[in-house]
Amino acid sequence: MEDNQTTSFTISVDLYGHSPATARELPEPDIHVITSGALRIPAHASVLASVSPVLENIIDRPRKHRSSEKVILILGVPCDAVVAFVRFLYSSRCTEEELERFGIHLLALSHVYAVPQLKQRCTKALGERLTIGNVVDVLQLARMCDAPDLYLKCMKLVAGHFKAVEKTEGWKFLQDHDPWLELHILQFMDEAESRKKRSRRHKEEQRLYLQLSEAMECLEHICTEGCTSVGPHDTEPTKKKGPCSKFSTCQGLQLLIQHFATCKKRVNGGCLRCKRMWQLLRLHSSICDQSDSCRVPLCRQFKLRLQLDKKKDDARWKLLVRKVVSAKAISSLSLPKRKREELQETHNHGIGSFRLYN
Ligand SMILES: [Zn+2]
Ligand SMILES: [Zn+2]
Ligand SMILES: [Zn+2]
Repeated sequence: MEDNQTTSFTISVDLYGHSPATARELPEPDIHVITSGALRIPAHASVLASVSPVLENIIDRPRKHRSSEKVILILGVPCDAVVAFVRFLYSSRCTEEELERFGIHLLALSHVYAVPQLKQRCTKALGERLTIGNVVDVLQLARMCDAPDLYLKCMKLVAGHFKAVEKTEGWKFLQDHDPWLELHILQFMDEAESRKKRSRRHKEEQRLYLQLSEAMECLEHICTEGCTSVGPHDTEPTKKKGPCSKFSTCQGLQLLIQHFATCKKRVNGGCLRCKRMWQLLRLHSSICDQSDSCRVPLCRQFKLRLQLDKKKDDARWKLLVRKVVSAKAISSLSLPKRKREELQETHNHGIGSFRLYN
C-alpha cells in the first residue's frame, strides 16, 4: 500500500495536465481511479462527473458502506492509458505520443465512458495510423465502439489490400472468432467490386457515345468540306488536302464510305460493314437539325421514313440518339465548336452524293 501511495503522488504532479499553479488551485482529491496494475490515481469527483455522464452515474451510486472510500475501477487497459484518459478528462488534451501508444485503448475508454471529444480525436488518430497489420483489430474495435467513419475507412483498406490482409494474424483471429464480421467484410468487398464494375461500364459506354458523336461530326465534315479521300459529289478534290483534326476517326469513316459505295453485297446482302455505315447515316438523320440544307446522304429519306412510321423508331434507338447527343453536348462544352460553313442546297442526297477521290 505504501508503494502505491508513493506512485500516485508522483503522478499527481502532472496528472491534470495543468500548470503546477492551476493544479494547486484544485481542492484536495476526493476519489481514486484504480487501474489493473493497482495504480491509484487521485482525482476529483466533480471534474470526472462533469465530463463523463457514465462516471457521474458511478460516482452518484450509493456505496455499500458509508465509510468505504470512493474509488472507480478502470481495469483491462494498461495503467498509462488510464493515466492519459484521466488527464484528458481534466485538460481535454492528449499528446500525439499517447495517441500513438494507446489510441486503441483510449477509443475504447472514450466509448465506454461517453467522452465524445476524446472519441473524435482517437477515431481520427487511428484512421491516420491504419496499416495492413492493424486494420482488422481497429475494424473490430470501430464496430464495437460504434465509430462508423473509422469502420468504413478500415473496410476500404481491407477491400483494397485483401491479399495482404488475409495473411495477417488479425484476419486469422477474426476468421476463428467473428464469422459474422468476416461475412460482412466479404459482402462489402463484393459490393465495392460491383460498384467498380458499374462505373467502368459507364465509362466505356460514355467513350462509345463520344466516338459515335465524333463520327457524326466527321460525317458532316466529309459531306460538306470533304477530307483526304472522300468528299461531296459536286466538289472537286482540293489538292494536297492534309489530314483534319479528327483524322483517326475521319479516316476510318472514309474507308467505310469507300467500302459502302463499292460493296456488291450491300446491306440487304448481309454485309456488316455496310450495315454499320447505314446505321451511322440513320443516326445522323436522327440527330440532324438542318431540314433541307443537309448534305449527308439519305438524311432526308430517313427523316421522311421516320415521319411515316413513328413506331419503327424504337425505345432503344431513341435512347442511343439521346446519349450520343448528350455526349456531343458534353464534349462541345470543352472543345470549341467547329465553325460550320454556309451550306448550299443540293438536288441529290442519295448515296451517290459521295465522291471518292482515289
Ligand atoms: Zn476529316
Ligand atoms: Zn459492304
Ligand atoms: Zn442531316
